[in-house]
Amino acid sequence: MSSPRYKRILLKLSGEVLMGNQQFGIDPEFVAELAREVKAAKETGLELCLVIGGGNIFRGMAGAAKGMDRAQADYMGMLATIMNALAMQNALEQLGVDTRVQSAIQMDAVCEPVIRRRAERHLQKGRVVIFAAGVGSPYFTTDSGAALRAAEMNCDALLKGTSVDGVYNADPKKDSQAKRYKTVDYDTVLADNLKVMDASAVALCRDNSIPIVVFSIREKGNLARVLAGEGTKTIVQKGA
Ligand code: UDP
Repeated sequence: MSSPRYKRILLKLSGEVLMGNQQFGIDPEFVAELAREVKAAKETGLELCLVIGGGNIFRGMAGAAKGMDRAQADYMGMLATIMNALAMQNALEQLGVDTRVQSAIQMDAVCEPVIRRRAERHLQKGRVVIFAAGVGSPYFTTDSGAALRAAEMNCDALLKGTSVDGVYNADPKKDSQAKRYKTVDYDTVLADNLKVMDASAVALCRDNSIPIVVFSIREKGNLARVLAGEGTKTIVQKGA
């Protein structure tokens, strides 16, 4: 089975994969490991945009559950994604991969603001563009940020690298009969409330015909396999 060969992708990594085996925060060794995977993907000739979550540091919902103002907590979550973006930039540049971080919350001393046409130029020059701070507004997540950037940068696919190896019809941790989809339609994901990405992110991908490829980034070499059309994954697309 061969998959379409992507020219430009957006890779979304959950913040939690940066913490390795820790309970919290950033494990530099693990970030270096991820950076090697990203470099290998880049070397296949792809243009690569990256979005990294912040769940390894702070999630707005968790703050709100403990009594914080939701919007204020969400801004803290967005700042967490900038820290992760800088950690990944550092790891990639140590491997000789040129990168630029563009943040939806302006932070001129450490990164560029999001400017689409400038990001386009970076990609043309072979740089990896890391988009930080999600969409820049509270009540969203980095999944929505990833879908938005994938759409505006005309990416051929959104790859979601996470801790699970695809989309299941039930929670595989709770239900031993849970089955992984090879492919599934956006509308099934939305109607059955399958845990892939937030509904707003899925809807944005659906409306712009961007396939979502869900796979485990914890398995070494998996990103390259998935890009080659192999490896364990679920593809969310139209008509599946
Ligand atoms: N966040 C936000 N708006 C955005 C992106 C992120 O408010 O556009 C906040 C939100 O609080 C979220 C946190 O940043 O919980 C970290 O992002 P996310 O939960 O998406 O990280 P992940 O689960 O991918 O690690």
